[in-house]
Amino acid sequence: MAAPLVRILSRSCSQRCPVRALQSGGWRLRSTSSAPDLYSDQSPVVSFPPLQTYSEEEAMMRDAVKKYAQERIAPFVSKMDEASHMDDEVIQSLFEQGLMGVEIDPDYGGTGSTFFSSILVIEELAKVDPSVAVLCDIQNTLINTLLSKLGTAHQKSTYLSRLSTDMVGSFCLSEAESGSNAFALKTRAEKHGDFYTINGSKMWISNAEHAGVFLVMANVDPSAGYRGITCFIVDRDTDGLEIGKKENKLGLRASSTCPLNFDNVKVPEKNILGQIGHGYKYAIGMLNEGRIGIAAQMLGLAQGCFDNTIPYTRQRVQFGKRIFDFQGMQHQIAHVATQIEAARLLTYNAARLKEAGRPFIKEACMAKYFTAEVATLTTSKCIEWMGGVGFTKDYPIEKYYRDCKIGTIYEGTTNIQLSTMAKFIDKEFDQ
Ligand SMILES: Cc1cc2nc3c(=O)[nH]c(=O)nc-3n(C[C@H](O)[C@H](O)[C@H](O)COP(=O)(O)OP(=O)(O)OC[C@H]3O[C@@H](n4cnc5c(N)ncnc54)[C@H](O)[C@@H]3O)c2cc1C
Repeated sequence: MAAPLVRILSRSCSQRCPVRALQSGGWRLRSTSSAPDLYSDQSPVVSFPPLQTYSEEEAMMRDAVKKYAQERIAPFVSKMDEASHMDDEVIQSLFEQGLMGVEIDPDYGGTGSTFFSSILVIEELAKVDPSVAVLCDIQNTLINTLLSKLGTAHQKSTYLSRLSTDMVGSFCLSEAESGSNAFALKTRAEKHGDFYTINGSKMWISNAEHAGVFLVMANVDPSAGYRGITCFIVDRDTDGLEIGKKENKLGLRASSTCPLNFDNVKVPEKNILGQIGHGYKYAIGMLNEGRIGIAAQMLGLAQGCFDNTIPYTRQRVQFGKRIFDFQGMQHQIAHVATQIEAARLLTYNAARLKEAGRPFIKEACMAKYFTAEVATLTTSKCIEWMGGVGFTKDYPIEKYYRDCKIGTIYEGTTNIQLSTMAKFIDKEFDQ
């Protein structure tokens, strides 16, 4: 078994708190003697760190994941895409590296790091394989967070220790008839003594093929509408739970997406996560945060595609010149690089706002919306810049192009992001 590189690095880091690291590293009072400014030489000016400032721990995590992804994931990517299957060795290595429990407390076997570190991990993984990134993203930003925030002591000790070491979790909200309008869900949970019986079905459940536990939104009181929605922890081997055939998808093919059927699935009352009737609040809250994870996935995807393309444009010669040297190419490349940089700043800013406990919902929507657009633009342009070979499976570019489309769909479609942003903008102009 390989050494848990990220976990070792993370735990040995003396500056666990990014804010502390920033204060000791880059955020300090200094005089502006060298730059022409509006202040006298004597006035101290607060210098804020650039958004792309990392704590020591974050920088180590990012570098370690970059290396791990190249060594341990890259060799599997094309095979997994073709087979539409996530290799068990890849999943196992994610656990070994501590990447499936980035924020989970070390007491439960987790890495004990930060939300921002999770974002960097997702970005780095997506550069190599967006399917692996979404496995890690859902585990960290939805499943682990829900259980850490809401779990009872028993639920935490039962599930968090498994989620950080060997168990994949799935988040089950969507149904065939309730996608964007998620809280119109029809799955019911009826109380019988000290257990509930769940009946209904879910659709589009990511990672269901490998999941050992499912967080399932079901309504315990349809007369109360969405206020009856409750979150249940359902073990994979529970009688009556059937995991259907996975979807045959355009992209993210190594990530399983399955329907689930619940036929009188008996769940003990102690498996309710949080409070009865609060499931809709938990789902909204988690998806608000989760969108920053999807933004990181789209950002990593765009950067990975770009990084795999530019070397080709610097080598390929036409009309006696590198194709990179044509101004028509350079302007397009510079434009796309700028879009990726803007996408990174939006994503990191949303993550830092969330981590600082400040309002972030509008910014998270902006980040998810914009990174999905940038990923679409980048992958399309990269195929064009590669010419014919970009259109073949000899290069990874066509896969990025297929994988990026999901960014405009899951965890809220682009229209839903835009509508949420518009609500905030409308409010900002009240009075
Ligand atoms: C690969 C994949 C993985 C997924 N993983 C999960 C998962 O793990 N767990 C889970 O619970 N779900 C998951 N989903 C479901 C996903 O979240 C939904 O597909 C998504 O919310 C959209 O719902 P829908 O497909 O029903 O589309 P619809 O809601 O039918 O939308 C269709 C179109 O109508 C537009 N539209 C709908 N309502 C409005 C409106 N009010 N204003 C403007 N336009 C609107 C949408 O923007 C979209 O363009 C996954 C989906 C996919 C494809």
